[in-house]
Amino acid sequence: MEKVLISACLLGQNVRYDGNNLGLDSLSFQRLSELVEFVAICPEVSGGLSTPRTPAEIVQGAGIDVIEQRAQVITQTGANVTDAFVVGAQNALALCKQNNIRAAVLTDASPSCGSSKIYNGEFAGEKIAGHGVTTALLRENGITVFSQFELENAIEFVNR
Ligand code: SF4
Repeated sequence: MEKVLISACLLGQNVRYDGNNLGLDSLSFQRLSELVEFVAICPEVSGGLSTPRTPAEIVQGAGIDVIEQRAQVITQTGANVTDAFVVGAQNALALCKQNNIRAAVLTDASPSCGSSKIYNGEFAGEKIAGHGVTTALLRENGITVFSQFELENAIEFVNR
């Protein structure tokens, strides 16, 4: 059975910054669950951050800018957590390589897992087009990243 990386919070694990999860239970999710074996990771926890934790945003850039050291990830209280985010992304990529994973379903709008939107770095609740640090590193390494809103696309991908 094909393995697919998934954000741990989408599997119901309480790893979000606020200690909650975004567990999926839609029909599309059930169909995908029958087709693949999920390999779960929370990149931020894997990178050494605690739960709950102070929210963080990418400042003046997107995930690829963090990977290429042009932007940083800063918490709402001003702490620089860039290194933890990069370690988490590297751990996610290592997990993909160990498991021959070619696709991931990650939580959109997260500074780690976002694949189409992220917050704008000003803690104003405003989203902009962009992607998180883990998504950037996975895409740079040829892994296809879907958001939790693209489960039908993920099903089509694994059925190809
Ligand atoms: S880093 Fe990813 S897996 Fe972890 S809580 Fe945020 S969105 Fe979920």
